[in-house]
Amino acid sequence: MKKVYFITGSQDLYGEECLRQVAEDSKVIASYLNDKIDGVEIVYQSTVRDEASCVEACAKATNDADCIAVITWMHTFSPAKMWIKGLQFLKKPLLHFHTQANEKLPYDEIDMDFMNLNQTAHGGREYGFMVTRLGVKREVIVGYYQHEDVIEKIKKFIDVARAVDFSKNLNVAMFGSNMREVSVTDGDRVESQIKYGWNVNYYGIGDLVALVNAVTDKEVEDKMAEYASLYEINTTDLDAVKEQAKYEIALERFLKAGNFGAYTDTFQDLHGLKQLPGLATQRMMAKGYGFGAEGDYKTSALNAIMVEMAKGRKGSTGFMEDYTYDFTKGDEVVLGAHMLEVSPDFASNKPKIEVHQLGIGGKEPPARLVFDGVEGDAVAVCMIDLGNRFRLICASVELVKQPKAMPKLPVARIMWKLKPDHATGAAAWIYAGGAHHTVVSTALSVEDIRLFAKLTDTELVVIDEKTNLADLQDKLDMLDLLAKLK
Ligand code: MN
Repeated sequence: MKKVYFITGSQDLYGEECLRQVAEDSKVIASYLNDKIDGVEIVYQSTVRDEASCVEACAKATNDADCIAVITWMHTFSPAKMWIKGLQFLKKPLLHFHTQANEKLPYDEIDMDFMNLNQTAHGGREYGFMVTRLGVKREVIVGYYQHEDVIEKIKKFIDVARAVDFSKNLNVAMFGSNMREVSVTDGDRVESQIKYGWNVNYYGIGDLVALVNAVTDKEVEDKMAEYASLYEINTTDLDAVKEQAKYEIALERFLKAGNFGAYTDTFQDLHGLKQLPGLATQRMMAKGYGFGAEGDYKTSALNAIMVEMAKGRKGSTGFMEDYTYDFTKGDEVVLGAHMLEVSPDFASNKPKIEVHQLGIGGKEPPARLVFDGVEGDAVAVCMIDLGNRFRLICASVELVKQPKAMPKLPVARIMWKLKPDHATGAAAWIYAGGAHHTVVSTALSVEDIRLFAKLTDTELVVIDEKTNLADLQDKLDMLDLLAKLK
């Protein structure tokens, strides 16, 4: 199980009795958090009391591959020059927990011993100054450790820290390259690895075709039985479905063997495949693999990362594309889909397997899952490469029920409304350089993406109910200027 280190700051000045109490209280809080937070172990660490113990604790966290984050708490005053070297060693997401062992002040009993033992308000500021001075990105959470809202904030921090850890170890397979002439899906893969840890590599589609051809009839039969149990089979062209069953089996085999968490393909490079993977890719998305169409490795990686971040939460997360609009005044809505590859995580009804002609790519009609989408508050997120830095763009959107049935639309779809209104939201996205490919999630909020951007030191543009185009353009100009000055 992954670990989060709980490190308490103090100093020798207070004497052994006080430090014993500090250690005692820290163990109680670490153990309380451990009981309340699933999926990760909160590990108490000995109190940091001088530079040497601080370096030791931070270096231990940095070197522990299972440690995904560090929580620091200043129980007492902890002179922060002793934290400089340690914080310089620390390469894990940092949470500064500004809490106390006590919820209420003991008004009748309080004396100077109590004051000296319980001075988060004091010590947290000294420590906070140094973290700011060093430019270390961190999250600050304030409140009594037993309060529900405080625990919820820590859980969210841990979700994002886990996603950062996942990112650092993410392998992405590109079947074929980027779609010819397309700009926004392209990017600097070396820089992606330096900044986010993504190991993105190209594979010839023939490597996958070899695995497709090796799939046995029995495996295909079993897969077809699985499809029949999960979906409505709304086609008589079972051979087309079997073809996708082979792709799913082969894709999973390939990705597992190479420890890949995400992949891309492109309809321009399908030599040896009869169809563009549709149903097969939808099934891989349902299993949590990241996907980006047309060689879009950034969206593929972001998809896998956001799925990891959303683990254990209610909601749907997946690859998406802004396709077409309904411009009805006051009822504007975006229709989002893709040629085939929409994650069944978004399904609000039982998906149907259908086979239809694809008007692009010149291959046989592919099988795909068709369904209507879920509703609810969501984020739409993309990552672009501006040449001198990456930018995340996060729009707060509302997934809505489709106004009318679309019986002739042969793909899965979701629909959403932009904020603060359609014209502003879409113009803001375009001014920011936002892509047509996104990852949409009803499980994540703008705050989750904001924290991910902060912990990975990525430029972020948020589009929400407060956005106005004049301020947004000023901000974009300022961000360009700052990037030039760096
Ligand atoms: Mn596309």
